[in-house]
Amino acid sequence: MSTFYFIDVVLPIPIQKAFTYAITQEEASFLKKGMRVAVSFGSNSIYTAIVLEIHQNAPTLYEAKEIHQILDESPIVSEIQLKHWEWISSYYMCSLGEVFRAALPSALLLESETVVYKNQVFDDESLLNNEEFLIFEALQHQSQITIQQVSDILGKKKVMPVINQLIKKSVIYLREEIYEQYKPKLEKYVRLHSKYSDDQSLEKLLSELSNAKQQHAAVLTFFQLTSKNKAIKAKDLEKKAGVSGAILKALVEKSVFELYHLQVDRISFQGNVNSVRNLNEFQAKALFDINESFRENEIVLLHGITSSGKTEVYSKLIDEQLKIGKQVLFLLPEIALTTQIIARLQQYFGHQISVFHSKYSINERVEVWHNVLENQSKAQIILGARSAIFLPFSNLGLIVVDEEHETSYKQVDPSPRYNARDAAIVLAKMHQAKIVLGSATPSLESYYNSHQQKYGFVTLNKRFGEVKTPKIELIDLKEKQRKKQLKGHFSDTLLQYIQNALDQKEQVILFQNRRGFSPIVECVSCGFSPQCPNCDVSLTYHKFKHELRCHYCSYQRAMPNSCGACGNNTLETKGFGTEQIEIELKTLFPDFVIGRMDLDTTRGKFGYQKIIGAFEAREIDILVGTQMLSKGLDFDNVTLVGILNADALLNFPDFRAYERAFQMMVQVSGRSGRAQKQGNVVIQTYDPAHSIIQQVANTNYEKMFEEQLQERLKFNYPPYFRLIKITLKHKDYAKVDLGINWLFRALQGVFGAYVLGPTAPSVSRIRNQHIKNLVIKIPPKQSLSGTKKQLQKIRNTFEAVKEFRSIRFVIDVDAY
Ligand code: ADP
Ligand code: ZN
Repeated sequence: MSTFYFIDVVLPIPIQKAFTYAITQEEASFLKKGMRVAVSFGSNSIYTAIVLEIHQNAPTLYEAKEIHQILDESPIVSEIQLKHWEWISSYYMCSLGEVFRAALPSALLLESETVVYKNQVFDDESLLNNEEFLIFEALQHQSQITIQQVSDILGKKKVMPVINQLIKKSVIYLREEIYEQYKPKLEKYVRLHSKYSDDQSLEKLLSELSNAKQQHAAVLTFFQLTSKNKAIKAKDLEKKAGVSGAILKALVEKSVFELYHLQVDRISFQGNVNSVRNLNEFQAKALFDINESFRENEIVLLHGITSSGKTEVYSKLIDEQLKIGKQVLFLLPEIALTTQIIARLQQYFGHQISVFHSKYSINERVEVWHNVLENQSKAQIILGARSAIFLPFSNLGLIVVDEEHETSYKQVDPSPRYNARDAAIVLAKMHQAKIVLGSATPSLESYYNSHQQKYGFVTLNKRFGEVKTPKIELIDLKEKQRKKQLKGHFSDTLLQYIQNALDQKEQVILFQNRRGFSPIVECVSCGFSPQCPNCDVSLTYHKFKHELRCHYCSYQRAMPNSCGACGNNTLETKGFGTEQIEIELKTLFPDFVIGRMDLDTTRGKFGYQKIIGAFEAREIDILVGTQMLSKGLDFDNVTLVGILNADALLNFPDFRAYERAFQMMVQVSGRSGRAQKQGNVVIQTYDPAHSIIQQVANTNYEKMFEEQLQERLKFNYPPYFRLIKITLKHKDYAKVDLGINWLFRALQGVFGAYVLGPTAPSVSRIRNQHIKNLVIKIPPKQSLSGTKKQLQKIRNTFEAVKEFRSIRFVIDVDAY
């Protein structure tokens, strides 16, 4: 009896189940869980799949196709990772394939590309029109061309009609080719041919070369370099010997030298490694407390005020892990922070750190993946933004989640909509590793969990170096307005503070949580304001380019001269953003350098680095920025932080708005007075008596926590209730409306009063898609998994309804 072998694989697509493919016995003995295979799926697409299971059970519903090829020699995904992916898929209600697609660097996902071949039997050119002939001709010279090349040849994008005609006329046929995008970066090295290993033959060689001066020099220099006992780069040799590449080439042709390639890493650290700094008594106590707490808890929350030196405490914890041979994952909420943190950690840990985030090229990400997988010495500490939780750790001992309260840990779009902090907690558990969540302003959830004894809890409430926490002054904008003490958006008090700081050669940070020049443009005569044609939102004026932009879909147009509704030349800008503040400052302080840090000025891989670097180097006197400035940056010469309009932070229709406003203001205040001198903070507000403003002014986290917790309890919000948000999107408004009402009734039938909605979000149309939301609130005693099961059932029914099929159905578990 012959035996058949099969594999179950996951494909990088949003389909719930795994698929089964047939393999040979030989393949069965070679393949392992976590290896990649190329398989065809659907009509003629080829995908990279990951092996989940190897077995002998033929699928009952379909005939298993054979795989195309095996792509790995050994697994590139570990069993723990697969388990972790499964947790994410089930907790965040998405397919395993979506997690897989998010987890693997795209270069490790083979993509298929359609390739055009010539049909050898066709030879009647007279049947072809001009465009068709061009393709036919190209195929005379090449056996195959890609669709992209076809498009280049014809000089246009839409080439499928031409291709279809060619297929009809039997001129060509199509096939899917797969290719791997990843090319390791290789460096050229030089070595001496083995026949010159003894002195005698070497002497002979040198005398033979005595007439070829440059070649002679190259060989001699080679020996100088070899004494250092390191591989010699071709480039270094050329430079040292002062010879050209042609000389090396000649020597290679003479079989004197051989060239070989080594893979290099793109992140290189040059400098000396120091031992971790000594902790002060408070830090030492915190470290001790964390380690004590780790005896009983896997998770510890470190509540350490800004500038208390949490990074130094983390460094000690990391050091302890490296000493016992464990890997460490250090999560940051924002790429903007990597520059500073990496510089600090490299001082201690040098080459043992790798960085992983989305601004790195696909090749760089693949290299880090392999280094982590192979547990290389340079990947003992991984510093990364949220996607770093997907790396193939084998030996993880510790995870640090810095600034754990940051909402950017939650992925909003696309699926998987995971919270990296929470997924990291699960990952730590799977590795039996410890995890420390750190923040000066913990999330309500984490603080609550530590109160509930779910997490250990440690505090650090002294600034390093005995620096006092900054002095906070509230400015009543109403009063300033009445007394005519405002210049543009600045009160006289704030201006005086800025002047004082500048006089002392100190630096200033000004916080305005809006980019652009001013949020909207409004007609004074008729009240009309220009809208985005694709989204239900007003366009934002950007002065530098004198244009209007949509912050949701990047639509842009020139700023009109007159009102589009009434035709009057009475358009005015309203409200204000970072760009306008920057411009006002330039006239108020013409002798100083003003910098701006927001999404518009930090594009590109080194965007942040440039601005942060310039500010650190004191090339910028006043830095204006959005919430990016509130994320744990450390500048030693900043003694003043100004918050221009605190009210803008409070007025959001969101149950987390107050918590977030508090966190943002305390964090940005924390940038002031971090070394030696006590800093100042000036907060401008129309409502100085507001409870949150008062809590910020007194830096009273506890009060904020108690008060907000009351609100959450009263209105059934997290951390008491859990939330699942459901969003429907479609370009036809009536359809979305119909769908959401159907869904609302169906969910209400199961969950009763705990279904909220339907509501339209404040921007109810984005990129021409109409949007409607529902929220399911899950009481503490109700089973979360049971709730999800019922929701999934209703979703399945919904998607079976014909007229709903084209509606996009988005589920966001623990939505923000
Ligand atoms: P946090 O992250 O808690 O806001 P940091 O870790 O950035 O604080 O520390 C604030 C500043 O104090 C940094 O410039 C850091 O270099 C310095 N610092 C903190 N702890 C020490 C220490 N033990 N020895 C020397 N410098 C320290
Ligand atoms: Zn838009």
